Amino acid sequence: MARFCTLCSSSSGNSVYVGTASYGVLIDAGTSCRNLKNSMRELGIDPDSIKAIFVTHEHTDHVGGLRVLAGSLHVPVYATGGTLAGLNNLGHLDGKFQTHKLLPEGVTVGDMHISFFRTSHDAKESCGYRIELPDRTVGIATDTGKMTDEILKGLAGCDLVLLESNYDEDMLTMGYYPPQLKARIRSELGHLSNDLCAETACKLVDMGVSYLVLGHLSQHNNTPQRAYACTHSALKRMGAADGRDFELSVAPVGAMERFMTF
Ligand SMILES: [Zn+2]
Ligand SMILES: [Zn+2]
Repeated sequence: MARFCTLCSSSSGNSVYVGTASYGVLIDAGTSCRNLKNSMRELGIDPDSIKAIFVTHEHTDHVGGLRVLAGSLHVPVYATGGTLAGLNNLGHLDGKFQTHKLLPEGVTVGDMHISFFRTSHDAKESCGYRIELPDRTVGIATDTGKMTDEILKGLAGCDLVLLESNYDEDMLTMGYYPPQLKARIRSELGHLSNDLCAETACKLVDMGVSYLVLGHLSQHNNTPQRAYACTHSALKRMGAADGRDFELSVAPVGAMERFMTF
């Protein structure tokens, strides 16, 4: 059995736990160390059972608590070379924990194998992750302005995928963000819209993904109801049945109430 939960998920903080009954890894640490540890304890996850932290990119909503958490847990941090350079420039590395540049063949932590794929985002060298546990595979794909063949390949055959559903097109259009910021979000180096998420979700379910968790929702340009409805109706239109072909959920802004086992 695999365990999955989001400890936080929105444009203001992201962290994901993937593990087994005995240990796990975190993808990103985008809120304070205290928040992350408290959330883990509330979920029944011992913070000391975390073996490594993998970082998608150097934006604050993914690394705000990284330096303190990695230092206090004494765990290694893995990221692409570009992201490590970005983290260093921004003062997120302080020599109190090991850092490792991800290699194309991926890395093994216990009996998990973790590999990465490039995403399309305005960071130095952003990536998503594919985490292969002994009997389940989990994919994490957030912070990408477009869906690419490389991302789809990285997610193919996963049992569970956390997919970005960042903004509702109409809410972004009508919202108060300045035009430049709206353009940045919509660009190929920005974020994934509900529409693009829905289109991708159909491809993923077609490829055999059973559990879809929508995440990294904007708190200004989206609502959980809109994100869910957009992807759910697209899946329904293609003839996929809820409960039979897929299970769809939306990650809350804070920690999930309980971890998913599958
Ligand atoms: Zn970002
Ligand atoms: Zn982000």
